[in-house]
Amino acid sequence: EVPPPLEVEPSRRIFGLETEFGLHVVAPGSRPITPEEVAGHLFHSVVQWGRSSNVFLTNGSRLYIDVGAHPEYATAECDTIEDLIALDKAGERIVQDLVAEGEQRLREAGVDGQIHLYKNNTDSAGNSYGCHENYLLRRRADFAGFGRQLLPFLVTRQIVTGAGCITRTPEGAHYSFSPRADHMWEGMSSATTRSRPMINTRDEPHANAELYRRMHVIVGDSTMAQPTTLLKVGSTDLVLRLLEARVLMPDLTLAKEMQAIRDVAHDLTGQATVELADGSRMTAVQVQQAFLDAVKSHVGDVIERTDEVDSILDLWQRGIDAVRTQDFSSIDTELDWAIKHKLLMRYQDKLQCELDDPRLARLELAYHDVSPERGLANRMEAQGLIRTLVSEEAITRAKTTAPETTRAHLRGRFVREALASGRDFTVDWVHLKFTGQESRTVLLKDPFRYEDERVDMLLGTLSQ
Ligand code: ATP
Ligand code: MG
Ligand code: MG
Repeated sequence: EVPPPLEVEPSRRIFGLETEFGLHVVAPGSRPITPEEVAGHLFHSVVQWGRSSNVFLTNGSRLYIDVGAHPEYATAECDTIEDLIALDKAGERIVQDLVAEGEQRLREAGVDGQIHLYKNNTDSAGNSYGCHENYLLRRRADFAGFGRQLLPFLVTRQIVTGAGCITRTPEGAHYSFSPRADHMWEGMSSATTRSRPMINTRDEPHANAELYRRMHVIVGDSTMAQPTTLLKVGSTDLVLRLLEARVLMPDLTLAKEMQAIRDVAHDLTGQATVELADGSRMTAVQVQQAFLDAVKSHVGDVIERTDEVDSILDLWQRGIDAVRTQDFSSIDTELDWAIKHKLLMRYQDKLQCELDDPRLARLELAYHDVSPERGLANRMEAQGLIRTLVSEEAITRAKTTAPETTRAHLRGRFVREALASGRDFTVDWVHLKFTGQESRTVLLKDPFRYEDERVDMLLGTLSQ
């Protein structure tokens, strides 16, 4: 018998982050080697462990190789942002843990090189890869209208949550808010690879489709600094809460989303304006402030005040103020674009070079290297130069343990016990099953449910 969906408070939400990592091998003088071959060596131990290069881990998350040989990690379903940050960081550690054996196997294949994994969004050949955000929504009829209201927020959000990047043009180089902005081609659509929408509307809820939708946001940059992840997901969640409560919001519909996202990205002064559908113009600072003010005015009614909400609002306001005043010092240990900007400016000053100098490009890349030793963001965290929100112990625990208050807990248990038993099994976001004709499939349509007798019974069959 399938249990009924849990009664959950409207403010409870499921979050998930998908990260595609850039994969690069440095092997001077070696024979040519394809990204697919490197990826194959990197994932050797994963395939041995899970008999596939597409696996679900005991922490409930998914690890796989996507097209183009990008390793991808999709966090388990989380119902707090704190869990999400821990699971997301755990993913960096999990892929990094594959590197040593990957390098060993490469050496055996005659290539003496270093494997680097980057949590960034563009490679040197100009390819872009994503960081997808997933937000569970209650199903409603006008999903498209909902998305349209969210787009002006998503287009301008980069001035606080962008990863920052050096942009090279024939006229020279400049620093931009977001590496992803130049790779977005439309506002909303159901396709991902060719057209690159900011919101993907493909209706794949991984849950009871009568109750829920999954808002699939493609436009964001990958984040290194934990406070940036908090603000990216937290501010979006708060805006979604207002939209779900059908609060009357200012109509900030943009006339040309594609133009707007590029213009905002390339103007660090925050002075560039975007055109609204009614013909008026606003700066990104004004658009973000309008959303923040709308959120602030509903703290206490639609939005329950918590310490976390307070810290999101505080960082959001400081981020907007920093762009408005052009004094970045109040956010340069918390928001990725400002942390990286400070780092690059310091080295540029030291090296007395142009912004398009290859040494600065290497520094920028090193910021996103997930290695604890080689990665600059990780080293800056260890030195206290980047603020952290979750402890290293919580991250280590999240490498093997699923969130306890979502469906991921059931999946994590199932994977752990199935592995220990040696039985073959198949798992995805909504299914658990032992392979073999006689075994039943358990369908988990409620992402909020973390206890389920059917799973107990299924696992009970292991000891029979
Ligand atoms: P693809 O990456 O191939 O486009 P996809 O978007 O389905 O497919 P996955 O890489 O499998 O992506 O990741 C799905 C993400 O959605 C995970 O982070 C997961 O935690 C999250 N998720 C699963 N169920 C829900 C749900 N009901 N609501 C919100 N997020 C969910
Ligand atoms: Mg994915
Ligand atoms: Mg996806």
